[in-house]
Amino acid sequence: MYLNILLLRKLFSTLTLLSLIIGCADTKNKNDVSWHDIARKEMVHNQIVARGIIDTNVINAMLSVERHKFVPEELERLAYNDYPLPIGEEQTISQPYIVALMTEKLTLQNSDKVLEIGTGSGYQAAILSLITQEVYTIEIIPSLAQSAAERFKELGYNNVFVKCGDGFLGWPEAAPFDAVIITCAPPDVPQPLIEQLAEGGRLIVPLGEDFQVLTLYKKADGKLERTDIAPVRFVPMKGIIEEQ
Ligand code: SAH
Repeated sequence: MYLNILLLRKLFSTLTLLSLIIGCADTKNKNDVSWHDIARKEMVHNQIVARGIIDTNVINAMLSVERHKFVPEELERLAYNDYPLPIGEEQTISQPYIVALMTEKLTLQNSDKVLEIGTGSGYQAAILSLITQEVYTIEIIPSLAQSAAERFKELGYNNVFVKCGDGFLGWPEAAPFDAVIITCAPPDVPQPLIEQLAEGGRLIVPLGEDFQVLTLYKKADGKLERTDIAPVRFVPMKGIIEEQ
């Protein structure tokens, strides 16, 4: 009898200890702030807001998208730094500020449909997808198109549609687009992309060869109005455009 009571007591104290441990683990998870959450807030504060980005939709999207999940694992620690990073296949994910600047210049509405040329890691498309209704993105390198599509699925970016192909031709089945963003550098804007831009639409592109000028176009009365924004460096656009 005495032994039974002892055993019961032991069992009871073990259970109490266990529930305490589980309780502690729970509390820790709820209050846990990871290094990337801190780094992301700092990135937005020091690189984005400090340089004059004011569109709250852009700021909130940059606060929300987990950039470290869009870079190769070995570069995760550098994901929130103030520069572009390699993503394989000799391509790069753009500097966070340039992503924010290009997005802001597109003056996006919730109901907009956007076309991106140059999916790369998918980071820019993920930012756009939090601000607009639908994002169509085209990538010419099959392995990048595939890994970006998997990433969108895994992270729940369900309003992003990926196609592997030459972005020169655009996505006629889904046109017209309220905004077009080209994240590789062509010497001139491909004609099909101008045609697929809606009336009142905006198109942003790094224009040029070795060095480029970030250029914004607005379509008004069927014509394009051009504004030069800043000197930039992007990887060149490949494919059909090289033959022209
Ligand atoms: N927006 C990307 C970065 C783009 S890097 C991101 O957020 O990570 C430029 C990308 O454009 C590269 O992945 C490159 O393969 C792609 N590209 C180059 N020429 C292209 C073309 N003609 N059509 C579609 N994608 C192209």
